[in-house]
Amino acid sequence: MRVDKADSAISRVKCVVSACRYYAHGDHCLASSIEIQPSDASDTEETGCATFSPKR
Ligand code: SF4
Repeated sequence: MRVDKADSAISRVKCVVSACRYYAHGDHCLASSIEIQPSDASDTEETGCATFSPKR
């Protein structure tokens, strides 16, 4: 899910995935929105950010 990069971080989201193009210093996310999957997750380890896009 490719989204726009915003000027400000999403409040109440901490993300440590520094390899993502939306990651900002201080563990912030600059994506305009994020989507977490999958819908049938049954524990923490199974969920992940579907908006992740690698830095180039
Ligand atoms: S898009 Fe997802 S993986 Fe990337 S910085 Fe935001 S929350 Fe983290």
